[in-house]
Amino acid sequence: MTNKTCYFFLQKQILLMLGLSLLPGLGYIVLGWLNDIILPAVIWYSLIALVCFWGYRLYSSFQYDAMTPSELDNWYKQLQWFFYISFSLWTLVFILYAGETNSKMHYIAIFTQLGASVVASALLYPDKKLYTPIIIILMVPLTIYFAGIQQWYGYVLCIFAYVFMGVLLYAAKSSNKLLQKTWFQASHDQLTILYNRNYFIDHLQQTLNTLNRNNNFSYLLLIDLDHFKTINDSLGHDIGDKLLIEVTRRMTDLLSKDHTLARLGGDEFIITGPYFNNQEDCHHEALIFSQQLLEKIKSNYIISTHHLYISASIGVNILTGNKSRASDFIKEADIAMNEVKASGRDGVILFNEAFSQKIEKHLEIERLLHFALENNEIQLNFQPQLNSDNIIIGCEVLVRWNNKELGIVSPEEFIPIAEQTGIIIELGSYILEESLKTLHNWETSGIQLEQFSINISMRQILHHDFINDVKRICQIHLQKPMCSKIVFELTETIEADDIKKLVNIMHELKEFGINFSMDDFGTGYSSLSYITQLPIKELKIDRSFVSDLHENSQNQAMISSILSLAKTFDLKIVAEGVETSEQIDFLKEHKCDILQGNFYSEPVSLSDFEAMYFKQKPAPVPVPDKKTGAEPD
Ligand code: C2E
Ligand code: CA
Ligand code: CA
Repeated sequence: MTNKTCYFFLQKQILLMLGLSLLPGLGYIVLGWLNDIILPAVIWYSLIALVCFWGYRLYSSFQYDAMTPSELDNWYKQLQWFFYISFSLWTLVFILYAGETNSKMHYIAIFTQLGASVVASALLYPDKKLYTPIIIILMVPLTIYFAGIQQWYGYVLCIFAYVFMGVLLYAAKSSNKLLQKTWFQASHDQLTILYNRNYFIDHLQQTLNTLNRNNNFSYLLLIDLDHFKTINDSLGHDIGDKLLIEVTRRMTDLLSKDHTLARLGGDEFIITGPYFNNQEDCHHEALIFSQQLLEKIKSNYIISTHHLYISASIGVNILTGNKSRASDFIKEADIAMNEVKASGRDGVILFNEAFSQKIEKHLEIERLLHFALENNEIQLNFQPQLNSDNIIIGCEVLVRWNNKELGIVSPEEFIPIAEQTGIIIELGSYILEESLKTLHNWETSGIQLEQFSINISMRQILHHDFINDVKRICQIHLQKPMCSKIVFELTETIEADDIKKLVNIMHELKEFGINFSMDDFGTGYSSLSYITQLPIKELKIDRSFVSDLHENSQNQAMISSILSLAKTFDLKIVAEGVETSEQIDFLKEHKCDILQGNFYSEPVSLSDFEAMYFKQKPAPVPVPDKKTGAEPD
């Protein structure tokens, strides 16, 4: 018996049974006393009371969520015996009183026996193993009694009693069928006929209870199909459904009787494994089984003439009995599964605590980032860009966040979070405004750069208000010709759908005077198509190509190809992450226009940048303003 609702239903029936036994039972004592047959009545009632006491203990010991499947099984067996014995006692009292024709007690006995049968059929219908024998135990003695009268009306009553028994059995069976059907629907997924989330959570909780009692281990696999949505969207839900059914069939083929598979929803499945005595074996088996599962899912599908391929991301978690909540384990498996997704999908990753810490840190960053601007925690650093004569001709603005609780947080960590949460819009606008103020101040104080690069996130540039915001900030802080010094660095991480929109935005800003640079060039997958579609002026070779230039001849080839490509398209090239003189020699030899990297200077504060600039090129003597005589700021 695996049906939670039935357990609870039958548990409640114990109480009803107690009431229906103890109260009408008292009636027998009174009648027995009135009719001078008190002794058997008292003995019988004592037995009833004893069984009721046992029943009550059974009722109170039931704790579905804390019991293991074998404990539940054991409890259920006792429950069955409780009902068998209780109803048998009613048959006993019938046998005792059926012969009492003088006192007319036999009428009472017949009625209670009929009543008990109806009660059995109404209370015990969830379990066939209960109601069938009990109705027979109650009704057969009655039919025998009627037949034993040996009169025509006795035989008629005997036949009626058989019919009545048949009706009761039929009624109980029909209710039972309906209940089973409802339960099946409530615990199964309609499409794949696998267990659903509701059922699985109960099952997992009981697995955990068992692990807790026996100190063993098991595993939990969370399987999410990769890019299933694309199949659904492009080929339609019918094909998607058929694919899910086929994936289910393949997974089911691999399962042993100790595995439980359920569909959590959409394209997400979940499995619990067998029990293990030690954790290493459990680890090992979980990973082997996941790999087998993945291979099986990945082999080709032919569905309604479509040849399909699908992979999966599998998060693995080891189940132990010491943490009690089922949902925690699922959440952790989900974290591991998302790690697989983040690292390119199609793989298996075992959950570890570091993932949770990462998520907690992520949430903490998200929370504190909201206050970063108002608390003045955001600062700008500047990294110089030099030409082939080692003259500083530009700089890249790099944001820094210094938080009281978290310390210095790298932009690599908080910018993606700002993008996800949308804070990047406000943050980006602030960075832009502060940058342009700096550019203005520098111009007036004699720092004359050819270009001034600012990183812009995709989410930021695609925001509906971006163009207006840029124009507004430029108009406040810069004179028109200065705008042509601004370079927006974009990273090639854009969905094809947005390209058209992006091209339009870039063209409008280009008209306004702003230039664009393709950042991290060479790391994306559609670099060439970007060059032809987007109005860009500059490519920045990603620092990963520059960093191991001398150990990696492929990177040398890559850089020289990018350089000749740039010449073809008349683009400027910036090499970022330059750290050694060998790299500089190679880059200069290949006519790279601009160099940037820690070899020259790390990103530095505003005042350090100014000092660096003037060290190389002494500050001009300030010229007083002709009208006011004031010195420029
Ligand atoms: P990025 O645009 O590729 O910036 C270059 C990164 O390389 C910077 O890291 C810089 O400090 C680092 N770098 C420069 N030279 C060297 C070198 O010689 N060796 C090494 N190992 N690293 C070098 P940073 O400042 O941590 O910025 C990381 C990323 O954060 C940036 O990568 C950019 O994508 C993003 N970011 C920084 N500031 C902003 C911003 O204001 N807005 C937006 N949207 N993103 C920003
Ligand atoms: Ca950049
Ligand atoms: Ca870069």
